[in-house]
Amino acid sequence: MSEEFCFETRLLHNKHKWDPHTGAVSVPIHHASTYHQPNIDRFGRYDYSRSGNPTREALEETIAELEGGTRGFAFASGMSAISTAFLLLSKGDHVLICEDVYGGTYRMVTQVLSRFGIEYTFVDMTDLDQVASHIRSNTKVLYVETPSNPLLKITDIQAVAKLAKANGCLTFVDNTLMTPALQRPLELGADVVIHSATKFIAGHSDVVAGLVVVKEPALAEQLAFLQNAFGAILGVQDAWLVLRGLKTLSVRLKQSTASAYEMAKYLQKVPEVLEVYYPGLPYHPGYPIQMLQTDGAGAVLSFRLTDGEAVKTFAQHVQLPVFAVSLGAVESILSYPAKMSHAAMPKAEREKRGITDGLLRLSVGLEDVHDLIDDFERAFAALRKEGSVNIGSTG
Ligand SMILES: *Cc1c(COP(=O)(O)O)cnc(C)c1O
Repeated sequence: MSEEFCFETRLLHNKHKWDPHTGAVSVPIHHASTYHQPNIDRFGRYDYSRSGNPTREALEETIAELEGGTRGFAFASGMSAISTAFLLLSKGDHVLICEDVYGGTYRMVTQVLSRFGIEYTFVDMTDLDQVASHIRSNTKVLYVETPSNPLLKITDIQAVAKLAKANGCLTFVDNTLMTPALQRPLELGADVVIHSATKFIAGHSDVVAGLVVVKEPALAEQLAFLQNAFGAILGVQDAWLVLRGLKTLSVRLKQSTASAYEMAKYLQKVPEVLEVYYPGLPYHPGYPIQMLQTDGAGAVLSFRLTDGEAVKTFAQHVQLPVFAVSLGAVESILSYPAKMSHAAMPKAEREKRGITDGLLRLSVGLEDVHDLIDDFERAFAALRKEGSVNIGSTG
């Protein structure tokens, strides 16, 4: 359905608004693994659920429409979506990746793809000269994550995609932090959009899922082949949960983005906070590009305390956010990248990328933001008190 409706409306009023067989206003969960075929010469639309399932297909069609692509694919996790997309590469190919990429993607590229003869280089994608100078004759993919995680660096998708096209490469964009509600990379020239739907798209910390969307029909054919060949498909119950979460994506993100902005402004004023990383703050180096290529700064921000000890004390005293891996949920999530999302990265590599022991990431949920600020204020007060006790006892 229809380009003429706004994104918010299309989240609800799409092809899968109701089931054509029953009128059910919720996509039916088809558990069948296999399908009866009319006869040996004529097979129906579905034959086996790894290759195609109506419930999973409803999600795949919905996300494709929302991202402005022609075809979507649902996977068992964000990592299986990313890994399957990487299977477009062959031995001897080279991939250029943003340096503060998600820890699991870093692990996949450095420890798995490398065993299959796929070469890689990490670069600061915010620096286009650096990107251009590292493209080789065998480079096939420029892999972008913007905003990056956890430092919220902003990459100019349009510029990178242009460089990629000029060099015969594909552009992959991990759009997990933005979702199509805020950023639509295919419209900016990217070829493959990837999501950990575990995060904002599903939004309720109750399902692990991944999505891929492409525009080019030839690429869609290749991915359909790889999805079926590799087989890391999303189960139907989980596909239904993602569809359910997706309906409220816009309201959730709007509220959380507004609160994240308030939190970022608050954190800037806290003496214990050395730095705040949020692309919605005008002094953020990526702010102008973020404002151009997205419809908002999103709900994730990071901030730096002095060291691991300060993080420990702060995390012990803060009560509202869950202290956990993951992001993009109805509840606020405080994470510690050094020991969570980026634990797969050696310490030296982490620190080179600015992911130090004092760095915390906050994914802002739907709590009243004043409650969040009060909670943080209490934790910082405790840090102040314990910090001065420490100084007193050692001084
Ligand atoms: C969580 C995450 C992934 C991995 O997704 P899973 O669903 O956990 O497999 C990939 N990229 C980003 C940016 C993420 O936050």
